[in-house]
Amino acid sequence: MDFSEFGLIDSIRSRFPVPSKMLGIGDDCAIIPQHDGVDTLVSSDMLIEGSHFILSEISAYQLGWKAVAVNLSDIAAMGGKPVSSFMSIALPSRLNSEWISAFIDGYHEISSRYACALLGGDTTASPDRLCVNIGVIGNCHNGKALLRSGAQVGDKICVSGHLGNSAGGLKLIMEGERNYCPKLVEQHYMVVPRVEEGLLLASCPGVHAMMDISDGIASDLRHILKASGVGAEVDTAAIPISAELSSCCQQFSWDALELALCGGEDYELLFTASVDANIPIEHYVIGQVVEGSKLSWLGSQRDYMGYRHF
Ligand code: ADP
Ligand code: MG
Repeated sequence: MDFSEFGLIDSIRSRFPVPSKMLGIGDDCAIIPQHDGVDTLVSSDMLIEGSHFILSEISAYQLGWKAVAVNLSDIAAMGGKPVSSFMSIALPSRLNSEWISAFIDGYHEISSRYACALLGGDTTASPDRLCVNIGVIGNCHNGKALLRSGAQVGDKICVSGHLGNSAGGLKLIMEGERNYCPKLVEQHYMVVPRVEEGLLLASCPGVHAMMDISDGIASDLRHILKASGVGAEVDTAAIPISAELSSCCQQFSWDALELALCGGEDYELLFTASVDANIPIEHYVIGQVVEGSKLSWLGSQRDYMGYRHF
């Protein structure tokens, strides 16, 4: 058995056939069609202390916010509207009621902002690390979700915002340089899921495929290519890098392109659309979909791989 993250997911998938009309493992959300012209979207994501966050570096409020934000991002990635969430939390005894209350404040703030109701979950003690798993439910018009598998040869490849800011923020945190650029640190913690943008893209003719960028496009774009049976050429000079990230990269001799392509946790939308599609949101065109299965990085001599979980 292949115990890489994706090998493991593939082997689970092969044992659980998906009921007809539903979409199962392999996209940002599962899709369950209802009888009233609406599709239900479902996704869940887990955050583990020490692996997804360092408790001493993130505030309880920020963690509550971010745990919901990364889940809402998967609903956004399908072009869906958030409906509700379920939160399971395993709490170590070292966390006091003040911490928990601030965590709930962050959770509550982002949930109200996106009208996403917390409808249930589970609470338990953890012998060691804090662990939060959130499930989210959203909806979209029947058959209108944007899948990873829809990319077509000739499509332009677009992203909804700057890449690498979150990875830059994390690097500042890890290197004790938070004060150099608090804005990047903020972007690492207070993730803004692109929900409105996802909804606009889902109703825009000519937009074919979409996902959110959680592991860096060097990894995430490969998912679109594999699911769609196509290749891509990315123009590395067109990768949008913010002035803040450029400044940090100069100051600390970091590789901006590496952070933008491989860093992850930007939670921007990655989508493909026919060249004449009139894209209704701010975006950057970074390349094009081509025949084959290869991902080429134009303007760079090397290959890039995204974040690997294990
Ligand atoms: P994302 O980054 O969008 O959250 P992931 O890369 O985590 O997506 O997961 C890819 C796909 O695999 C998703 O469809 C997810 O639901 C599915 N998946 C991941 N882990 C498991 C698991 N343990 N059992 C079943 N499906 C899983
Ligand atoms: Mg996703």
